[in-house]
Amino acid sequence: MSDSLRELYQEVIIDHNRHPRNFGHLASCNHQAEGMNPLCGDKLNVYLLLENDRITDLSFEGKGCAISTASASIMTEVLKNKTKQEAERIFQQFHDLVMGKIPLTMELGKLAVLAGVKDYPARVKCATLAWHTLHAALHDSPELISTEE
Ligand code: ZN
Repeated sequence: MSDSLRELYQEVIIDHNRHPRNFGHLASCNHQAEGMNPLCGDKLNVYLLLENDRITDLSFEGKGCAISTASASIMTEVLKNKTKQEAERIFQQFHDLVMGKIPLTMELGKLAVLAGVKDYPARVKCATLAWHTLHAALHDSPELISTEE
């Protein structure tokens, strides 16, 4: 990754952290889950309105580091109006990206800004917390999701 691209990605992360999109409780939600990453102290709730297997609306709220907040914010933008199956596939791609298993491709769109966390293993949990929580909300897992088993 070039230095200028890296800087651009950092700007996007800072912007999403300062002004998180779709932040707050979603009154109309019919699925939700709570997740935490004790290693960093990140904690968040994900709210979904799932209709006919499509995520017609979603939001999150919580407190965490810049990476966890930006990742959750970007996730809510990317997954709006996606089906449950599409959301699961995007989660898998995002997971592989931040684990350094797949190269950066155009197809990843906005998610690409978080590709840099692959160089910081402790940050991978911050970046994936919202996604694991979303997964739990989709499947109505009753327990609190933690990145530490
Ligand atoms: Zn964190």
